[in-house]
Amino acid sequence: MDWSLRFLGVGNASAIELGSSNATIECDGQPWLTIDCGAEGLSAYQSAYGRLPEALFVTHTHMDHVAGFERLFVASWFDPARRGKVRIYVPVALVPLLHQRVASYPNALAEGGVNFWDAFQLVAVGESFWHRGVRLEVFPVRHHWPETAYGLRLHGSLVWTGDTRPIPEMLARHAGAGELVAHDCGLHGNPSHSGIDDLEREYPAELLQRCLLYHYASTADGDALRARGHRVARQGEVVALQQTTAAIVPWP
Ligand SMILES: [Zn+2]
Repeated sequence: MDWSLRFLGVGNASAIELGSSNATIECDGQPWLTIDCGAEGLSAYQSAYGRLPEALFVTHTHMDHVAGFERLFVASWFDPARRGKVRIYVPVALVPLLHQRVASYPNALAEGGVNFWDAFQLVAVGESFWHRGVRLEVFPVRHHWPETAYGLRLHGSLVWTGDTRPIPEMLARHAGAGELVAHDCGLHGNPSHSGIDDLEREYPAELLQRCLLYHYASTADGDALRARGHRVARQGEVVALQQTTAAIVPWP
């Protein structure tokens, strides 16, 4: 199994030209698990793969991460091959928030007869879950309010922080197997997101060298982060990942 990560977008919520900070984990060059479903992220997925995602993990429910769900609902419900089969992995504390944000509109279809989640297979997850026979890990990050945003780990290959302030203690626990750490980082931090000053102050050098930064404000800011010696993802970039050391069981 060859693993890679495609950045569907790398921008912050205002940097529409850089896309939603969503990504897809690929296995043997095929989309395997997509992280988040922003409007621009979903469009980028369609452009890259010529179809819609079949499995997604939700990090948190800000709109640049979930606004694509209404479109995904319609496309999934009206396609008999997809109806009820699109797997949506959601940390259990996020289920009420996700429902409020994308699924609570009265009558999912005007003609009635269908509930929003009928189009999907909603899988509430705790600290770990299985996807296609591979065990993934989930951990809380720091974004606005406790238990509202989560990171994702494919052991030995990838840690995706999602939107977060610096989390040195969490990465010491959840990113200690040589993973590439795709990390929220702009040129300037704020109460919602990490800035490069924050990461340089709080992260050990070894961890910073494994960080690949995304969620920045502009192309110029991305270049400025590179000029400081950091690895910075570009929109649409596909990055090779190390072989995973996660538990794997046979999967049909
Ligand atoms: Zn956010």
